[in-house]
Amino acid sequence: MLYLALFNGKQEFMKYVGAHVSASGGVENAVLNAVEIGANAFALFTKNQRQWVAKPLTDESIEAFKANCAEHGFEPHQILPHDSYLINLGHPEEEKLAKSRTAFIDEMHRCELLGLDRLNFHPGSHLKQVSESECLTTIAESINLALDKTDGVTAVIENTAGQGSNLGFKLEHLAEIIDQVEDKSRVGVCMDTCHAFVAGYDLQTVESCTSVFSAFETIVGFNYLKGMHLNGSKKELGSRVDRHHSLEQGLLGLDVFKFIMADERFDGIPMILETIDETIWDKEIELLRSYES
Ligand SMILES: [Zn+2]
Ligand SMILES: [Zn+2]
Repeated sequence: MLYLALFNGKQEFMKYVGAHVSASGGVENAVLNAVEIGANAFALFTKNQRQWVAKPLTDESIEAFKANCAEHGFEPHQILPHDSYLINLGHPEEEKLAKSRTAFIDEMHRCELLGLDRLNFHPGSHLKQVSESECLTTIAESINLALDKTDGVTAVIENTAGQGSNLGFKLEHLAEIIDQVEDKSRVGVCMDTCHAFVAGYDLQTVESCTSVFSAFETIVGFNYLKGMHLNGSKKELGSRVDRHHSLEQGLLGLDVFKFIMADERFDGIPMILETIDETIWDKEIELLRSYES
């Protein structure tokens, strides 16, 4: 399969691969951290992910981020910002739901300011207070509210490991949320290989990958795929415990990464390592590249 295209005389990869890099000292530094490891994609937090409130992005930081992206050839579809871990868009309590929605809209605004076109988030948790389907409806309403108040940023729902009462561990959950989103042009999904595996989707062989992603096409649809998280797993299939591992370690094996890198349905979207040893991210990117033929 042809995996390189010539564009303006420059070699262009069809696959965008990178890692969730640090934005410490300013979002503009994330771009440089991505360049450092040979990435042509990256993820970042646009604010401290463990705090509710953050200082607004400064004009200087926004300009520097855009300048660094332009200089190093990063376009919005190569970048997958991740929202704060505190946000629960399916919170069953009104006041806390409102707080999450406000914080999520602020995150969407930050993406807008940076010229980014998508925001990756975990759907939410029912906290055993409401049914799954009620919670999925609340999440969809949260997305509708956020899309209404913002422009140009797609809400990218990540599949989860299904720890505790977190929803999004079944493909059907993702489909049920999308189904209730009014503007389907601004909703998408991100598939995390570790989360899918521990949620019970066997990705250990080419055959099992073929069947999982064919279910994905049927239930969700590749037209909604706006990013991938490429992670190994420390925990076993169906354990519903979220512990990432490096690609070459853990229980997932390498077939899934070979499968993804050789399949054109994964072209043109940011594919992000959230593996545990950042000192080998450059090597992991090289390994993935070696599968790209
Ligand atoms: Zn995530
Ligand atoms: Zn992830």
